[in-house]
Amino acid sequence: MGRVKNRIDYENLRNARILENQARLSSLGLQKTLSDLRSLTSSAKAEKGRTQKRKHDKKVYGTTDLRRSDRLKHIATNSSALKALPMRRSNRLRAESSELISSKKVKGNTDYESEEESSDGEKRPANAPFVKIKGVNLLSLSPEASARRCHSKGRGSIYDPVFGICCHFCRQKKLCGEEDCKRCGTLDPDQPCIGKTDCSVCHSTNGVFCRACLKVRYGEEMEEVRENREWMCPHCIEERGIKPFWICNSSLCLKKRKMAPTGIAIFKAREMGYESVAHLLMEELKRRNKLK
Ligand SMILES: [Zn+2]
Ligand SMILES: [Zn+2]
Ligand SMILES: [Zn+2]
Ligand SMILES: [Zn+2]
Repeated sequence: MGRVKNRIDYENLRNARILENQARLSSLGLQKTLSDLRSLTSSAKAEKGRTQKRKHDKKVYGTTDLRRSDRLKHIATNSSALKALPMRRSNRLRAESSELISSKKVKGNTDYESEEESSDGEKRPANAPFVKIKGVNLLSLSPEASARRCHSKGRGSIYDPVFGICCHFCRQKKLCGEEDCKRCGTLDPDQPCIGKTDCSVCHSTNGVFCRACLKVRYGEEMEEVRENREWMCPHCIEERGIKPFWICNSSLCLKKRKMAPTGIAIFKAREMGYESVAHLLMEELKRRNKLK
């Protein structure tokens, strides 16, 4: 009997606590946030349940023809990377982007277009893509975003779908974290981003790297690249046969070659005394070539 009573007491107490918590949350206006979080968690669970399907997808990519599978692989890489992201992070990114957009919307009904070519047909550097903004003359970062922009110099800390320039390696469309970047700091569309590279030969999105990827994956310093007017991306270096076995090690480009992506190979590379993943790969490819 005593045991039953204890259980009832416990349940009463529990229910009372739940009600109390709900009341407190709604008084704080947190109700919506909580249910948002719950739906996020449940969609994460649903995605976990789809592991089977993902395995199946991988097999399909291996057997389809090259060009098509490349494009699909790109999509697959992106989506599986997203799935692998911890909840907290995607949440934060969402918050960042909405916070930026809202700060822009306040200033008028805006409309964006981003192009590699400006209206007069001139090819723009890939770290200064042309952004057409209708309806506003001047955009600015919210004070909060502005204060946080330089928190990560390597990859940047603010996601921005309009001014952020996508890094060929990490694919993150972020404002750079360089203190004196006019494009990212003052959202000036006519300025190049000094925290992203531009290839002097192709001026394409393939030659755009953030500071962190440039260093870790290719062993190069942003300052040196910025000063070198003849800097070439790994794709152009390979195309011109300048440095044998120097290849782009982005997961996309490695898949095109049917090579395994080298996600965390930097640890291995550093342990072995290599400057970057590209240096490690270059040596590996050289060795393999000798064995042939
Ligand atoms: Zn990057
Ligand atoms: Zn920048
Ligand atoms: Zn290039
Ligand atoms: Zn590449």
